[in-house]
Amino acid sequence: MSETIERLKTLIIGSGPAGYTAAIYAARADLKPVMYTGMEPGGQLTTTTEVDNFPGYPEGIDGPTMMVQLQQQAERFGTEVRIGMVTACELSTEVGGIHKVTVDSGKTIEAETVIISTGATAKYLGIPSEQRLRGGGVSACAVCDGFFYKGQDVAIVGAGDTAAEEASYLANICNKVTMLVRKDHMRASKAMQHRVNSLKNIEVRYNTEVDEVLGDQVVEGLRMVNNKTGKKEDIEITGLFIAIGHKPNTDIFKGQLDMDETGYLITEGKSTKTNLPGVFASGDAQDKEYRQAVTAAGTGCMAALDAERYLASIGSVEEAVADNYNL
Ligand SMILES: Cc1cc2nc3c(=O)[nH]c(=O)nc-3n(C[C@H](O)[C@H](O)[C@H](O)COP(=O)(O)OP(=O)(O)OC[C@H]3O[C@@H](n4cnc5c(N)ncnc54)[C@H](O)[C@@H]3O)c2cc1C
Repeated sequence: MSETIERLKTLIIGSGPAGYTAAIYAARADLKPVMYTGMEPGGQLTTTTEVDNFPGYPEGIDGPTMMVQLQQQAERFGTEVRIGMVTACELSTEVGGIHKVTVDSGKTIEAETVIISTGATAKYLGIPSEQRLRGGGVSACAVCDGFFYKGQDVAIVGAGDTAAEEASYLANICNKVTMLVRKDHMRASKAMQHRVNSLKNIEVRYNTEVDEVLGDQVVEGLRMVNNKTGKKEDIEITGLFIAIGHKPNTDIFKGQLDMDETGYLITEGKSTKTNLPGVFASGDAQDKEYRQAVTAAGTGCMAALDAERYLASIGSVEEAVADNYNL
């Protein structure tokens, strides 16, 4: 570890809805939080144009604007937002211990509590036409964007439980859903496969992959290729959903924090407590089930309250505000 530059009560890693909500609560509780934004200030929502399902925006809002507003709200109460990437950490295993976090492979920060809100990254196929049309009809979130394709024909790529669930979700909204499965069978559970197969407007294409997403500014169609025969086929669609998984951004905590086989951080019961005292996890980094802005914000709030209670329990702050609410 390099030279220590400061000691904080609360360090927040990540600037998505979870991080900013944690910051609002921590700052209002006078924990003087410092946030490091990471490489994607504002998080995943900065990659989307329309957010229609976050409460409080009756007309909807575009993702980047919403995240600027969350930052302003966090700064209003004294959060210090810094551009920087956490590259390593030495987390204490002791109650009341000091956690050491390295930023940008240089300076070291010491913190009594650390709130992790590093999110997750949706996996994409990586082909040029898909990347070009991201936000123009290519989406990695059916629950977020399916509504915009009401009554239209769409396709979804994936074979696991999430893909099957998202295909079923889309089938309720869209006219027709073509589901592309790379192998000759799905990975999804039997129950989920049954659900997909029982929906008349889902057509499952096995041994089928995306060859090219068609369209200039927006998705207009899909060129599929059968990986057994090499035969290509075009269909008309307006939306393509990629459901091949997410990768939680938690590599820097490997070996120190408990995580599942994919890397999602494991938290205790209904709290945001990790296996180490004073370290709390919120948002998509610890949630593989819901992965929504509002649920991320909810756990960000919880993490700040958990951090405050912890600091009170070790005598670092006088009284937890959370206890004033009889929480
Ligand atoms: C295209 C798209 C559209 C979506 N639309 C909607 C929608 O309409 N409604 C909805 O509710 N949800 C939507 N979602 C899901 C929503 O964006 C996520 O559930 C939410 O952003 C998760 O918030 P988070 O705070 O956990 O993490 P994220 O938003 O993923 O933010 C993670 C943050 O951590 C930072 N970070 C990562 N690693 C480090 C590090 N080592 N050091 C410092 N910082 C780090 C990143 O820079 C980033 O700021 C959408 C997602 C996508 C991809």
